[in-house]
Amino acid sequence: MNDDYDVIVCGAGVMGAAIALGLTRLGQRVLALDGGDGDFRAARANFGLLWVQGKGYGKPDYQALSHDAADRWPDFAAALQAQSGVDLQFEQRGGLQFCLGEAQMAARAERVATWQAQLPNISPCTEMIERSALMQLMPDATLGPDVSGASFCHRDGQINPLKLLRALQGALVAGGGTLVHGAPVSRITPESRNGFSVQAGTRIWRSAKVVIAAGLGSPALGAMVGLDVPIRPQRGQLLVTERLAPLLPYPASGLRQTGEGTVMIGVTQENVGLDMNTTTAAAAQMSRKALRVLPALSEVRWVRQWSALRIMTPDGAPVYAQSATHPGAFIALCHSGVTLAPIHAGPVAAAIVDGALPSAFNFFHHRRFHVSQAE
Ligand SMILES: Cc1cc2nc3c(=O)[nH]c(=O)nc-3n(C[C@H](O)[C@H](O)[C@H](O)COP(=O)(O)OP(=O)(O)OC[C@H]3O[C@@H](n4cnc5c(N)ncnc54)[C@H](O)[C@@H]3O)c2cc1C
Repeated sequence: MNDDYDVIVCGAGVMGAAIALGLTRLGQRVLALDGGDGDFRAARANFGLLWVQGKGYGKPDYQALSHDAADRWPDFAAALQAQSGVDLQFEQRGGLQFCLGEAQMAARAERVATWQAQLPNISPCTEMIERSALMQLMPDATLGPDVSGASFCHRDGQINPLKLLRALQGALVAGGGTLVHGAPVSRITPESRNGFSVQAGTRIWRSAKVVIAAGLGSPALGAMVGLDVPIRPQRGQLLVTERLAPLLPYPASGLRQTGEGTVMIGVTQENVGLDMNTTTAAAAQMSRKALRVLPALSEVRWVRQWSALRIMTPDGAPVYAQSATHPGAFIALCHSGVTLAPIHAGPVAAAIVDGALPSAFNFFHHRRFHVSQAE
């Protein structure tokens, strides 16, 4: 089968689907090709935080991007819900990072102050709150004695990540895009005159532009069009409890109550290659920490544990780039694809239509890794 599209997006996880949706909204003829169930799919297993506080520490460009994403979320969520008919369980009333003991409280305060000072022109969004104020914020919870306080960021929020993915893919199709599941791209071939042909199985499609947003499947595809981006997997394990009465009014780093009432507890950061196993050691470590914050969780049944692999660049910040050798080929990778979804459907999609990423995205080119290696 041969068809012509303006843009083919390789990968329809939360990143590829958001970009493809943005492209359809800009009137592009879009084909999104997604892989198979055996792929690594962080979009289906993540924590669902819209997280700004501390993001981009030492990297003001990433910090600014995260702030921008957070400020776009209310309008983005409303439009996405209207277009897809999916309730995203979107909330953006703020988020917490608990501090256990005065030393953690002091270290967190210093880190937050340094982070906020990176963007002097943006009004601060994160403050430290003492235990007594925290108790007033969480009237249904009894905090453990070790909790000294927390940092609170009013830009933080949460969402149901599975519903987000379903909404993005649904809105993409409702908006006129084409989405093919079970179509792992095996070859991207630059055409002699211009554009690309893209093969999945025995099928070949053509397009003027191609976007590689295939998560951990991206390096193999990027190499075909001069986009050699170094990434590595990082395992994150999570636990989820049975459904509980409302307990946590705000999401926290590593602890949040979902719209259904379950409490998600996480998240490990393990460099174990492509190993997707879960471990009792991680379950014990995550439970211990959660119990120090909320001792009442000891009475609760934990019902499931799973793991997923983050898509990590060497410095943890996203990569957005166009190929120098094959213009029209773009790559987009990050490990905050939920938080940054409005950026991907908005400015990133617009830049792909324009044929050039704006200067505000210069920092995010993967040349930053190759330059530092050469030095
Ligand atoms: C444990 C954990 C917790 C996380 N928590 C958060 C959080 O709270 N907030 C947040 O913002 N982010 C979080 N993340 C990160 C977030 O999940 C990722 O940033 C996001 O899923 C990346 O989206 P993606 O589409 O690039 O990759 P993925 O979601 O992995 O999707 C990649 C897609 O590409 C497809 N694919 C692969 N190869 C090919 C190919 N050859 N051809 C076609 N398609 C292909 C796959 O089938 C898949 O659908 C978390 C991640 C993990 C692992």
